[in-house]
Amino acid sequence: MIGGALPFFNSDRWLMHSDVCKHCANAPCQEVCPTGAIIRTEFDTVYVQQDICNGCGYCVTACPFGVIARDELIDQTAHKCTLCYDRLKDGIEPACAKACPTDSIVFGEVEQLKAKARERLGFLQQRGVSKAQLYGVDDKVLDDGLNSFFLLLDEPEVYNLPRNPARPVKNVAPASFWTILAAMLLGIIGILCFKKE
Ligand code: SF4
Ligand code: SF4
Repeated sequence: MIGGALPFFNSDRWLMHSDVCKHCANAPCQEVCPTGAIIRTEFDTVYVQQDICNGCGYCVTACPFGVIARDELIDQTAHKCTLCYDRLKDGIEPACAKACPTDSIVFGEVEQLKAKARERLGFLQQRGVSKAQLYGVDDKVLDDGLNSFFLLLDEPEVYNLPRNPARPVKNVAPASFWTILAAMLLGIIGILCFKKE
């Protein structure tokens, strides 16, 4: 899916992008979910099952794009874009792609869309749009790439997108190491103090 709805402002013009779930191929939200509420569907999309979600909110902090949120008013569970799972099951495209009057949002096979996006990028660069760039097409992003990617006209930060989205669980091992080390040092200090007495 190639995206284009939230307005951001730079000094020259208004820029738009669709701030949707990226349906990450290796999704951090799914990785941290303790209940198995977040699943990968037969369409390679990431889907939250509200009836299994316990509302812990781990997925909210794990998502590097801030596109999943816990509903505080009605059911206290996590919600995000489903890429219109019900429509996909009926063989029709997501509502955003269908409704977009300029076809800024395009739905289809990811590799075909990437080829189309690269072609469009080349066209823009030829026309002198020097900052035009693709975001999320690299298979290395979050280890296995994103299934929603974007053609930007400026740097990712202008669109409030992280330049290098991080996988939070990668911080767990270093953090655990320092916690264990600190505990061991405190233990040794405690033993030394006890011996002196
Ligand atoms: S963008 Fe966020 S909510 Fe969507 S699949 Fe990736 S980590 Fe999960
Ligand atoms: S809020 Fe729900 S979906 Fe998110 S991590 Fe917790 S149980 Fe999983």
